[in-house]
Amino acid sequence: MSVRIYAIPLGSSQCYLIQDRGAILVDAGPPKKLRRFARALSDIPIEPSRIRLIVITHAHWDHIGSAKEIRDFTAAPLAAHQAEKRCVEEALKPLPPGVTRWARAVGRVMTVAVPLIRVHAATVDLEIGPEGMALDDFGVKGRIIHTPGHSSGSVSVLLDTGDAFVGDLAMNRFPLRLGPGFPAFAEDMVKVKESWKVLLERGVKRIYPGHGPPFMADKIRRAMKF
Ligand SMILES: [Zn+2]
Ligand SMILES: [Zn+2]
Repeated sequence: MSVRIYAIPLGSSQCYLIQDRGAILVDAGPPKKLRRFARALSDIPIEPSRIRLIVITHAHWDHIGSAKEIRDFTAAPLAAHQAEKRCVEEALKPLPPGVTRWARAVGRVMTVAVPLIRVHAATVDLEIGPEGMALDDFGVKGRIIHTPGHSSGSVSVLLDTGDAFVGDLAMNRFPLRLGPGFPAFAEDMVKVKESWKVLLERGVKRIYPGHGPPFMADKIRRAMKF
């Protein structure tokens, strides 16, 4: 069976369902999105219990907001990098700095708005270390790779097909960016580029960002002059 990829829009961000021999979910959207998620699953259609793992690309509020509810709904274990565990389990809401003047202006709005958003804490069942994690045990040919930069514990899911689910290591949606490319917000842009070097060397072909539609890796390769 060939791998199927479903983008599930959940408001300001999207999660992805990857269906290979097994099914895994990448990210869990902003808060209060369980109903929308369940409706999308029934359209696909896939039983919630078939989802064997939820991978959190990083612990920002718009990617973990419905993690507790989706974990309860699917009974799938939640995997996150060890550096993000505390943010998930204590429902902290860190905001990375804007890296452009525009992003810094958006960031000032977020600094006021985000503290008002309520996120439920979720339990991290599987901690991802610096070496990442193979996904074979979950029926998916690929692995989780530590790709820091947007946040210190950001991870990407890279399938053997060259499809990469990168969270906010790339962005492709207004008001974050006008087109596909590097994140508009990042803790460390040097690390962002180092992480992209790793992904490009590992053969990423298509990029599925947490915000906006997928795009080809050539865009990043050109931006990197790689
Ligand atoms: Zn983020
Ligand atoms: Zn995000």
